[in-house]
Amino acid sequence: MDKLVSLAKRRGFVFQSSEIYGGLGSVWDYGPLGVELKRNLKERWWRAMVHEREDIEGLDAAILMHPKVWEASGHVAGFTDPLVDCKQCKNRFRADDPRLKGTPGDPETKCPVCGNKGTLTAPRMFNLMFKTFMGPVEEDAAVIYLRPETAQGIYVNYLNVLQSSRQKVPFGIAQIGKAFRNEITPGNFTFRTREFEQMEMQFFVKPGADQQWFEFWKAERMKWYQGLGIRAERLRFHQHAPDELAHYARDAYDIQYEFPFGWQEFEGIHNRTDFDLTRHQEHSGKKLEYVDAAVNERYIPYIIETSAGADRAALVLLVDAYREEQIEGEQRVVLKLHPSIAPLKAAVFPLVNKDGMPELARRIFDDLRGRFNVFYDDGGSIGRRYRRQDEAGTPFGITVDGQSTQDQTVTVRDRDTLLQERVAAGRVGEYLAERIAP
Ligand SMILES: [Zn+2]
Repeated sequence: MDKLVSLAKRRGFVFQSSEIYGGLGSVWDYGPLGVELKRNLKERWWRAMVHEREDIEGLDAAILMHPKVWEASGHVAGFTDPLVDCKQCKNRFRADDPRLKGTPGDPETKCPVCGNKGTLTAPRMFNLMFKTFMGPVEEDAAVIYLRPETAQGIYVNYLNVLQSSRQKVPFGIAQIGKAFRNEITPGNFTFRTREFEQMEMQFFVKPGADQQWFEFWKAERMKWYQGLGIRAERLRFHQHAPDELAHYARDAYDIQYEFPFGWQEFEGIHNRTDFDLTRHQEHSGKKLEYVDAAVNERYIPYIIETSAGADRAALVLLVDAYREEQIEGEQRVVLKLHPSIAPLKAAVFPLVNKDGMPELARRIFDDLRGRFNVFYDDGGSIGRRYRRQDEAGTPFGITVDGQSTQDQTVTVRDRDTLLQERVAAGRVGEYLAERIAP
């Protein structure tokens, strides 16, 4: 994991937030390559969920919502962790922190950070939502929250979307957006962060059809990740045991990946029953029933949710793609990213900076960048330039050599097989398109 974190920084995938000020805890910035990777991931998700399906609509709800939303959802009362403070070193940790031996509040219990005895408070409940104030006055009546999940923006817009899109149950609403949680023990690089992005789809179904749709989405989501090239043996389902299951959920599965720090979830598929819409109907006083005019039935739909962390999924892609290989006695580090996800699709290299090679290379580069995110590199030995692109996960290297200026062909090197093919300079765009296709 350390090697990946260092590569991510060196090559511009992920930087620590506000690094020149010492960094901000568990908040990360995506650099030039990272932002491309994450955009490609989100675009593929949007295409699979919204564009390729007639029964799902897109939405982009605001981060700030009416405070009553979080009362209805249960977040104000229940989105809490029991926390312990050390009066000596001022550290705060979860009451279930594995480093903690003994009972917090007990005079014999030691602080796991500073080692002092009897300095820990008894556990206190702490809400994980970020609070702020709306308007000029900082008073209780003006408190609002940064949303801790994107799902509620979908539930409160369920009727708006239903009516404006003329969808019928079963149908879904998809959204990509930021959410915030004041996590006390964040960590593992971008895995658990205080600001994160979710890719969520809420699918509204008739009660009774819920388990069938649950199974459908469970299978569909796993297939989607495998389609991104993630190794199947590193993916698995984890079913929530009765004690892990949220009180409103009827069934829940996580999709887990085998990270260097263990199996961890990065998407959840949940059968949320009619809990959410029922709560919002109660708290808003607005009827949220679905009326099926054809059979003259009314009901509150059940919801099947697929909730993915965009940052976690991006981390899965990086971890899964990272390889160290021996090539002719030399070690190379390569990111074997699926071409459709790779930040750069190709790099163009003039073999040497003379004899008409840079001119032809520039022409090819200018032609390609209208269609693909490509990179031009004329610095250092060709082997070095290949290595740099291997580390960036660039699937193709296009080299203009002595022969190119004679017969207008270039070599195209495949990142994974290392095979080189001669391709007519005018056909390179087509060649890439065929191989990058989703
Ligand atoms: Zn302490």
